[in-house]
Amino acid sequence: MRADLHVHSNASDGTDSPAEVIRRAARAGIDAVALTDHDTVAGHPQARRALTGDLILVPGLELSCQLQGRSVHLLAYLFDPGDEELAAELTRIRDDRVLRARAMVDRLAGLGVDISWDQLAALAGPAVIGRPHIARAMVASGAIAAPRDAFTADWIADGGRAYVSRYALDPVRAIRLVRGAGGATVLAHPRAGREWELSDEQIAGLAAVGLAGVEVFHPDHNAAERTRLRALATDLGLLASGGSDDHGDLTGNRIGSETAAEGVCAALESMTSGARVMRAG
Ligand code: AMP
Ligand code: MN
Ligand code: MN
Ligand code: MN
Repeated sequence: MRADLHVHSNASDGTDSPAEVIRRAARAGIDAVALTDHDTVAGHPQARRALTGDLILVPGLELSCQLQGRSVHLLAYLFDPGDEELAAELTRIRDDRVLRARAMVDRLAGLGVDISWDQLAALAGPAVIGRPHIARAMVASGAIAAPRDAFTADWIADGGRAYVSRYALDPVRAIRLVRGAGGATVLAHPRAGREWELSDEQIAGLAAVGLAGVEVFHPDHNAAERTRLRALATDLGLLASGGSDDHGDLTGNRIGSETAAEGVCAALESMTSGARVMRAG
């Protein structure tokens, strides 16, 4: 069973519609795909309608958290999307993303980058807005050549000149919230080497409060980190998950390029009660 448990659509900062994500997952020949947009489940109905054949859709999301002032991402699966406490937090995160994007537009204007809020809002459409939308607007305005060029200290990388922080959950609270909604959490890309990396001790701390798994197989993890994380997962009794973190054109199409260890999907199903995996028909 090959399951890519980390994929984005244009419900957040991916470039493809949820239906296109499902078509690409089917073409990749994998058995299961999780749609894990940032802070939203809005893409799930369309993804479900696009299912064909035996492909399984695992409903999920990627939750913005913050630990000691640093950004931490938690993947959540098979929770009840109607859970009021979780839904309220997601709304709060999304609302603050809008305020923060407006503030980043202002900062960029002060640095001579001429993108208007209206242009950015048109580009993002109904999506949960994130820095990749700002990066694309900067490309459109001619300020930079490619979206990745925005993620530097000059612009909108963490701590960059035009970076603005945003509301995010404490991961311990997030783990409990998702469990309370019948779901399970997996720590996303803890060793991606972007701005910082979680220590083994921090991961153990999250395991102690109910974290179900850790993403071992991720495009930004090198071979040595995979080996170390896999051993840590075994030590802590965590699932060794994996996924492509595909964002469509922004990452290059790579659905199915990374998959969870065998049995992870079934284990997530057995430990959750908030929602079921989805199949065609
Ligand atoms: P935000 O959630 O608005 O803070 O934006 C974070 C998103 O930006 C991540 O989910 C990635 O999609 C993208 N991102 C973060 N760091 C980089 C990077 N160094 N290069 C390209 N994209 C990045
Ligand atoms: Mn993203
Ligand atoms: Mn992430
Ligand atoms: Mn992601």
